[in-house]
Amino acid sequence: MEIFRPKTRTVKIRDILAQRGKGVSLEFFPPKTPAGREAFMKHVHELKGYDPLFVSVTCSPGSVTHERTVHAISWIREETTLSPMPHLTCINATEADIDRVLRVYISKGVENVLALRGDPPRDAPGIASAKGDFTNARDLVLFAQKYHVFSLGVAVYPEGHQESLSLEQDIEYTRMKVDAGADFAIAQMFFDNSYFYAYREKARKAGITIPILPGIMPVTDCRKIEEFANFCSVTIPDALRKKMHPFLDKPEEMAKLGVEYSVKQCEDLRKNGVTFLHFYTMNKPAIISWILEALQNESDPFRRSGEAG
Ligand code: FAD
Repeated sequence: MEIFRPKTRTVKIRDILAQRGKGVSLEFFPPKTPAGREAFMKHVHELKGYDPLFVSVTCSPGSVTHERTVHAISWIREETTLSPMPHLTCINATEADIDRVLRVYISKGVENVLALRGDPPRDAPGIASAKGDFTNARDLVLFAQKYHVFSLGVAVYPEGHQESLSLEQDIEYTRMKVDAGADFAIAQMFFDNSYFYAYREKARKAGITIPILPGIMPVTDCRKIEEFANFCSVTIPDALRKKMHPFLDKPEEMAKLGVEYSVKQCEDLRKNGVTFLHFYTMNKPAIISWILEALQNESDPFRRSGEAG
């Protein structure tokens, strides 16, 4: 395979994590149309002062062209000095499809990719992977690392992936993704830190030494979170559920509760030696600012000292 050189430089996430040693990363979803550029970039600009390690942009389930993600990543490159990372799923794709998207990213100077399999369509589980050249995320890691350009991230699941037969098997597949070339991992949301600690321990025992960034999901919409947690087999502790339910139709109180819960979660993670946090921002910068301000009052645990980028 031909080796590509990026046109402009941006920093690889594996180097950023190694050099900085602590900090936050932020995940956004792209707007539905290019007309959403202004609103999307406003969200990014509102949070860039927290000097994120990187910002990632999700991709639509089942997309092959990844057009929306490509646009959003391009805007970040054009308007900021942040290090962007597109999410890239492979479930419906041929090698030619993925090659096309990776070449676009390379031409824009993007050197990071979150390599994902993606979910099969809910109405046709199981058939999607048969259409493409990739059966799991490891195949995509193997493919993408041949370009010798990308720092590659992968997804991990502290409570096990919803299709997995056991957590042990899931961890073994994660190890295979790491052996294929993954540099770091981002964890699925969790609301009970003990799942993350147990996963981290088991992963280390299985020889997985790459950084694993916990994924923090502030609860701002109880119904949506319950639906998504159910789909992903993520536990919502009874105590949290009980606190949330009185605020089902009270968005402001729910947001306050969600922020308080995330702050407590992050403080506990910090006490347990976690130095990186990945926030699922849900394109709600005010909520993330609220959390990060509260954490900085706690003796600046995650923010890098020096200039905000
Ligand atoms: P894989 O690592 O391939 O795992 C999928 C399943 O196959 C697991 O059960 C695993 O145990 C099993 N498996 C893995 N390797 C093998 C193997 N060699 N042999 C047999 N079985 C194997 N989805 C989107 O559509 N867009 C996004 O932007 C997006 N972003 C995400 C970001 C994060 C941080 C996370 C945690 C998830 C994200 N997802 C996204 C969801 C993700 O696409 C789904 O969870 C998907 O079902 C699995 O993707 P994966 O990359 O983990 O797959």
